[in-house]
Amino acid sequence: AYLDRISAVDPKVGAYLTVTEELALAQAEAADRRLAEGRDVTPLTGVPLGIKDVLCTRGVRTTCASRMLERFVPPFNATVMDRLEAAGAVMLGKLNMDEFAMGSSTENSAFHVTRNPWDLERIPGGSSGGSAAAVAARTCAGSLGSDTGGSIRQPAAHCGVVGLKPTYGRVSRFGLVAFASSLDQVGPITRDVTDAALLLNAIAGHDPADSTSVPREVPDYTRALVEGMDGVRVGLPRQFFVAGLDPELEAAVRAGVRALEERGAQVVEVDLPHNEYAVAAYYLVAPAEACSNLSRYDGVRYTYRAAEAGNLIEMYKRSRSEAFGPEVKRRIMIGTYALSAGYYDAFYKKASQVRTLIVEDFARAFEACDVIAAPVTPTPAFRIGERVGDPLQMYLSDIFTISVNLAGIPGMSVPCGRTGAGLPVGLQLMAPYFGEDRLFRAAYNLER
Ligand code: GLN
Repeated sequence: AYLDRISAVDPKVGAYLTVTEELALAQAEAADRRLAEGRDVTPLTGVPLGIKDVLCTRGVRTTCASRMLERFVPPFNATVMDRLEAAGAVMLGKLNMDEFAMGSSTENSAFHVTRNPWDLERIPGGSSGGSAAAVAARTCAGSLGSDTGGSIRQPAAHCGVVGLKPTYGRVSRFGLVAFASSLDQVGPITRDVTDAALLLNAIAGHDPADSTSVPREVPDYTRALVEGMDGVRVGLPRQFFVAGLDPELEAAVRAGVRALEERGAQVVEVDLPHNEYAVAAYYLVAPAEACSNLSRYDGVRYTYRAAEAGNLIEMYKRSRSEAFGPEVKRRIMIGTYALSAGYYDAFYKKASQVRTLIVEDFARAFEACDVIAAPVTPTPAFRIGERVGDPLQMYLSDIFTISVNLAGIPGMSVPCGRTGAGLPVGLQLMAPYFGEDRLFRAAYNLER
């Protein structure tokens, strides 16, 4: 049924880069056998999922929506893929994204744009735009995305679905193609909050292959799905409700907060005073890490190689010039500049210091509240093409999602209403380290 739905709907939406029909049918048959025999059945057995094309999948092309990896077929699985396979999930295919996860609209894909299922003239958000659009278009039951500066939460908000960025270290990054290693996390995008809990249950946990994954027990997150918010303090950060916030979007977010209050939550105001420096700090830290991570694409191993280069240096230069798109090149240049000899103190070190101030802001805010509620984005989904010519404008749209990554705390986007034109609005929830259960509880009550 899902494969038929993909054939019928995906030509309009463009969420998929690769549909793995044969594999999906084989996995579905294996799941049927497990279910018939009542053997190793989990809540994900037989559930058809889409996977962002940034996660390595054994034997299945993994492109990162880049010409550089157009023909890359990994000989191994990302750890999260092994875990989904062990749970009996079915993979329908690989989903579109901004090239190497750099972007906020999925317009930076080297292959094609993805459209927002609610308005085909608008962007689905990014960089996990394919993952959010596919869930919204019902061309998969749930998906995995990755979030370095908002790439799960922002497209989830724009497409009217649930998206969760776990605590840094909660989910293994092994086999997740690296963008900015100190910020990247894998997480679920789903139709509802319960599905997100079930997916996180399956993918979370320590992995010896990722030294930054934390050896800490994984609770059953569905236990956090309890009715009522009695005794829960919800903090509203003043700095997130400011001029520039779309009025209809703000009204939907405030209505969501009121709903939590009616369910027993106590609403308090909190401050995140350094959030105004988050975009500037992020756009130094992320490109700095990216330029280092992307140095491996050398035209020699598993990548695009330019034809007829005269010598080795020429081959490196031409391969990278031809195969990387403009946004990826922009990041490599910014990152290389920021890390140049003599500039470290002025840029990278300063950005790291700002990062510490942001960590301290959250620590202080969480003394006064248990969970923070805020908008995910300043505006609803914008039109395709509207911001492609203005990278700074595009970067500024990340203002509400980035500080969560800089601090490493978990964040979630939950639908909280629509604009007059019918565009979905997301409400963002944030919690202290490993406070995913708090996010699930608040999100569940918001959904009721
Ligand atoms: N939009 C941000 C960027 O372009 C975040 C991307 C992400 O989270 N992968 O870097």
